[in-house]
Amino acid sequence: MRVAGRVALVTGASRGIGAGIARCMAQEGAAVVVNYVQSEELATRVAREIRDGGGRAIAVQADVGNYAQVKSMVDQSIAEFGKVDILVNNAGIAGPYGPLADITPQEFQEVITNHVIGSFNCTHCLLHHMREQERGDIIFISSRQTDFFPPNSGPYNAAKAGMDGMAQGLAKEERYNGIRVNVVAPGLVPTDILMKDLMETTGKSSVEEVDRVMPFGRMLRPEDIGNLCTFLASEQGSHISGEVIYVRGAVGGEPPSFYVNGPKPYYAS
Ligand code: NAP
Repeated sequence: MRVAGRVALVTGASRGIGAGIARCMAQEGAAVVVNYVQSEELATRVAREIRDGGGRAIAVQADVGNYAQVKSMVDQSIAEFGKVDILVNNAGIAGPYGPLADITPQEFQEVITNHVIGSFNCTHCLLHHMREQERGDIIFISSRQTDFFPPNSGPYNAAKAGMDGMAQGLAKEERYNGIRVNVVAPGLVPTDILMKDLMETTGKSSVEEVDRVMPFGRMLRPEDIGNLCTFLASEQGSHISGEVIYVRGAVGGEPPSFYVNGPKPYYAS
């Protein structure tokens, strides 16, 4: 049990990557706060599954972009479990995609509010609490896109770059306070945020169809990210702080169609 006795707050854990992180943390002994904004039923189910498996979990609604709601979620978490030791800033939204010239200020602001302001709100509401405990782990879920910044993805590029920058500076600020801060940057994970766009751009109709042509025979799964986050928050991850860790199966800046239109090893392309 790598995180036994610890308490993890995972934002956006009702589905997708966040649910995978919540399940992994719980399997390794952590009590988990399953945050959601809309999907009460899904979040409640994730928490119930964890409890049915002998773990501890609660589902808590909060829009990460709203400071008051985040503060209330943190207070509720501490009231329930006595503390929060691990924060995973995972909640996120996709797009809009297209040239920056066609993006409205409102659309841009929505993506920044969700990812950057949301991560700030959750981190800010927990930092003093973690300092008092002289221990804490904060993980920002970024994206492989920060390695190559594709076109037609301006708001998302900016949001993830903002999260990366905040995390790396924060790691230095908190390094004498026992608080480790890292960025985990996933490749393609077949979740709601990805699949619609992926199906549209590749013409494929199922996850399995895409899996077959990917390096290592599959896209990532939420558990791949959950396992890494759990490792980072455990004592085995001691002294890893301020890092950006890409988990992408050697998938670089190529669009999914690069793989999907025929399995092309790099050396053969
Ligand atoms: P997803 O399946 O669409 O799930 C998004 C989660 O975020 C849901 O739990 C959703 O809650 C929650 N959420 C959205 N806005 C929120 C808000 N304002 N406050 C609180 N929760 C909010 O997406 P995903 O693929 O798991 O993505 C998770 C993270 O991984 C995101 O930061 C994304 O950018 C990043 N990522 C994903 C991929 C990928 O290929 N999937 C790759 C790289 C990075 P509700 O269910 O209540 O709406």
